[in-house]
Amino acid sequence: MRGFRDVFGADADNLTQLEASARKIFKLYSVAELRIPTVELKELFVKATGDTTDIVQKEMYAFEDAGGRLLALRPEGTPGVARAYIENNFAQTSPVQRFFYIGNMFRAERPQAGRYREFEQIGAEFLGAAAPATDAEAILLLKDIITDFGVKNYSVKINSLGCAKCRPAYRQQLIEFFSAQKDNLCDKCLSRLQKNPLRVLDCKIDGEKFKNSVPKQQLCGACANHFTEVKNLLEGKINFEADPMLVRGLDYYTGTVFEFLAGASAQNAIAGGGRYDTLIKSMGGADAAAIGWAMGAERVCAARGQNTAAQDKKVFVVCMDQAGNKMAFNLMQTLRAAGIITEGGLFDKNLKTQMKQADRSRANFAIIIGGDEVKNNTAVLKNLQSGEQKTLPITEVATSI
Ligand code: AMP
Repeated sequence: MRGFRDVFGADADNLTQLEASARKIFKLYSVAELRIPTVELKELFVKATGDTTDIVQKEMYAFEDAGGRLLALRPEGTPGVARAYIENNFAQTSPVQRFFYIGNMFRAERPQAGRYREFEQIGAEFLGAAAPATDAEAILLLKDIITDFGVKNYSVKINSLGCAKCRPAYRQQLIEFFSAQKDNLCDKCLSRLQKNPLRVLDCKIDGEKFKNSVPKQQLCGACANHFTEVKNLLEGKINFEADPMLVRGLDYYTGTVFEFLAGASAQNAIAGGGRYDTLIKSMGGADAAAIGWAMGAERVCAARGQNTAAQDKKVFVVCMDQAGNKMAFNLMQTLRAAGIITEGGLFDKNLKTQMKQADRSRANFAIIIGGDEVKNNTAVLKNLQSGEQKTLPITEVATSI
């Protein structure tokens, strides 16, 4: 099906490695896993993600179940995390929470390179924390994960969207500015103009066109101080650019927003996030400030490319004599118990086929057991790169790899 894929080989390995880097760094930052459901009430995303967003208007896989409930496959993780925070009474029991999630998201977008209909996001959400230090921590957490994974070339943009105090005036200013430019706006921006004028800044066509002339946001004192403090904390720890045109596509953002970009294509956003200080309250929860981000796992993998780090050694066990099958099988288990990656067991096939499979499996060594070896309780250890081989007592194989 278009936009849905089977993931295997190097692609699957890369995703697993990224998840491992993420879990390692999440632990260092004391961020705990939250497993949220794949399916939620459609209403959750309409309210939280926002009914003016492309995600909700055009891209959501929504359906009615047999019980007549309107459900949706999650297009993003933040609404589910916010719902979980409310439903599990965290605001009352333990208001400061640091969660991460790893899971597949679903959006009916036009499939193309780096854009799938089912894709993986790794996300973090810090709830019940309003200080600028939390914003800086969230951004550095993201940086540390992609650095640990091995992404080298990326850039970071940050901005502040202001709060309920300073944003409405800017919104109005933008509506007035763009209304005077109606003839110069693309169709999408014309329809965004009244409902979500900030999104015009985000438009690849109009954002670029009005980059220099559009009025820039004047933050209120509190927002300006907060943003300055975030930038101060980040200074020297990460290269970033403050970009007043960065608005992000979702409705719930307030204050700090940020994006990590790699490469030059339109699908170059590898991760993004921001504050959403009013979302939880607007969903019927407590007045809890929060900030979060999500990275597109496939795009982060593409930004790194193949893993060049040394791989663990791997062994392929070959047996050419029925009488040696048990001995070879036992050796496979002994090697695994010694922490060595081991494949083999195709003992019903001839030597040539087993050796061919050893090459295909990218093993470093083949261990070959034939009639002589069975008799002498030995094995032949063959280095598949150099072709060198030697015969060893079976008990010494594991320590000779
Ligand atoms: P968003 O939730 O829209 O802020 O997206 C966060 C990140 O998820 C983006 O920066 C992308 O890396 C990734 N992403 C979003 N949509 C897709 C998609 N359709 N396919 C693959 N990755 C995506």
